[in-house]
Amino acid sequence: MRCKCKNGLMERSVKPEHTEDLGGIVVKVLNAVVVNRCSSCGEEMIGIPDLQGLARAAALARAQSPERLSGKEVRFIRRALDQTQKDFAEAMDLSAEHVSRWENDHKGIGAASEKLVRHNVCALLSEGCEYDPKTIANMQFIPYPDEGLPPIEMVRVRVPHRQSEDDTMWSEAA
Ligand SMILES: [Zn+2]
Repeated sequence: MRCKCKNGLMERSVKPEHTEDLGGIVVKVLNAVVVNRCSSCGEEMIGIPDLQGLARAAALARAQSPERLSGKEVRFIRRALDQTQKDFAEAMDLSAEHVSRWENDHKGIGAASEKLVRHNVCALLSEGCEYDPKTIANMQFIPYPDEGLPPIEMVRVRVPHRQSEDDTMWSEAA
């Protein structure tokens, strides 16, 4: 492919690491992001495969991590589920007003309720993924750190015997 500068060709490579703010959750994608870089002007085009699958896998990973969820993270997880505030509230047995206050960091929910929400979220997101409900059942919450959380490292993994054309999916890096 020729670059729009007309002097160079776009050369394709795979970035060993790429950090992306998905809006509420930051991920570090390992060995999966394709970059097309012009040999002449240095123009870069980044391609992240299966962005929606990445958001769902990142939400699943975050729900299994013990820091209390921030409002932005709750919004991220809800969007990864492709739910409106109303849908999410109904699915989680919360009022829409409560979800709104939670997402805006005005009022959180109790630890017992948050555990239940996480169980539900993981059940809804875990199709085809390894997920152990005991991780959440045994979880001792810790406060959300002031400095935020480090990026979640994500990789593409092969899924054997999958029916669809694409036999890879996103997973948290071990
Ligand atoms: Zn160029």
